[in-house]
Amino acid sequence: MNLLHFRLAAAACAMSLLFTSAVTAQQQDGDKVDLGALTQIKNEAFQHSQVMENLFYISEVYGPRITSSRNHRAAAEWAMQQLKTWGLQNVHLEKWGPFGDGWQIKKYYGALESPAYASLIGFPLAWTPGTNGPVTAEAVLAPLHSEADFAKYKGKLKGKIVLIFDPRELAMHTEAEAHRLTDAEIEERAKTPDPSRMGFGPRPGAAPAPLPGEFTPMTLTTAAPSGRILRNKVNAFLKEEGVAVALTPGYNGDGGTVFASFGGSQDPKDPVGPPMAAITPEQYNRICRLLQHGITPKLTFDIETEYQKDDEMGFNVVGEIPGTSKADEVVMVGGHFDSWQGGTGATDNGTGSAVAMEAVRVLATLHKPMARTVRVALWGGEEEGLYGSLAYVQQHFAPRDTMKKTPEYDKLDVYFNDDSGSGKFRAVSALGNAQMAAIFQSWIAPIKDLGIDGVVGLTAGPTLQPGGTDSTSFSYIGLNGIGFMQDPLEYGTRTHHSNMDLYDRVQKGDVMQGALIEAWFAYNAATRAEMLPRIDTPAPLAK
Ligand SMILES: [Zn+2]
Repeated sequence: MNLLHFRLAAAACAMSLLFTSAVTAQQQDGDKVDLGALTQIKNEAFQHSQVMENLFYISEVYGPRITSSRNHRAAAEWAMQQLKTWGLQNVHLEKWGPFGDGWQIKKYYGALESPAYASLIGFPLAWTPGTNGPVTAEAVLAPLHSEADFAKYKGKLKGKIVLIFDPRELAMHTEAEAHRLTDAEIEERAKTPDPSRMGFGPRPGAAPAPLPGEFTPMTLTTAAPSGRILRNKVNAFLKEEGVAVALTPGYNGDGGTVFASFGGSQDPKDPVGPPMAAITPEQYNRICRLLQHGITPKLTFDIETEYQKDDEMGFNVVGEIPGTSKADEVVMVGGHFDSWQGGTGATDNGTGSAVAMEAVRVLATLHKPMARTVRVALWGGEEEGLYGSLAYVQQHFAPRDTMKKTPEYDKLDVYFNDDSGSGKFRAVSALGNAQMAAIFQSWIAPIKDLGIDGVVGLTAGPTLQPGGTDSTSFSYIGLNGIGFMQDPLEYGTRTHHSNMDLYDRVQKGDVMQGALIEAWFAYNAATRAEMLPRIDTPAPLAK
């Protein structure tokens, strides 16, 4: 999930939650579920779980997985082999694009040399070049708040290591970083205080989005086209000025955790800037303070990165358990497989990918006949703008140019997405469909002991634009793209797009619960008599 949409997506999920009193009325419209199947699914998912083993390979062996990088391709080969081993059919890579270059870090070394030595915790920004060996140079503080600042520093930055943002205000950590939602919080998030403001929109207390043209650490990291345009301008300017290395303090976090992603662009037509790295804000602020005291520190960076031009096309990994009597009707589970470069992409989105793989492994292992086909999709290009899932819905359901429904459109039953970190599933969205809410309630009733409370999204507006995560690529064109409300744990405070996005931050019990619920939901959707109800066909689709 890209950051701007991370907050918006949370807002989009926050709709009315049904509690016990309303539930009884709803259950009437719910399903009579197969508890025998549930017991078998639970047994396989909890007694023979492979979800952490999947995650080990996805993150520790093949992480990080920047879209179209060699790590991403190797991870895809491994995943396809696993799916085949579990008996899935039609396992293949589905290409889309062109996307552009893959990119990977080969080496990172950063240090303060004088007035005293200190190694600098950090990593290079995505799609930025290396230093061609070690570079030692003076530091300069040259905050670029907007294009207007370029003139101020013209001719003053050649061969320097440039701090391009203001020092960051840091606060003491008084709150626990990990958080589990309380029932009261879920209830609060579920309310619809103002039905005139449904759909996407900033949540109360959310960090203000950068103003148009404003250059902040947040702008540097956004996938929005405006961010890319500004990044290109800044990169062209810094390159022209002959900057040796550009530094940022990251856009979030501290205490050794560095949050950062984009620096340049995957598009070979876009300008390539100087080497760029994000370092911890504490160390960034130290360099600023030295400069503000008239002391010019010397820094050394030795960075090696690789632009990988193996194949400009992006890809999604797809595989399925063929249905029986209604095999042309499809139930999908999935999440994005690509990640950013700071850690190993364990919680973003190694967990969502491992959970989806585990859900189909459980169902394939049980060999229980399912009328509809169950398909798993591991998307590429999500972090850069949902490219993989958007391409998929255009290739299969509504081509962008005509926006006309294809025959497959009416056969896609539902897509279940997981992309909010390691946390257990606490609620599921009904996308504003009361019938769907009742059906989901009846699926949840026998598994409430696992900590999933209910259904959100009973009152919901249409998805006005794809954004935040891959389920919106489906709901944007009127398909059931369903997400789960998860316990935030340390997602926003520690792991999301950071150097601490690592295996040990994943909670085993939580992802086991997620895999069980995704398998159970897919099983119910693939075996129930009718397909799930749908919301009305939204505006973007040609009538
Ligand atoms: Zn994500």
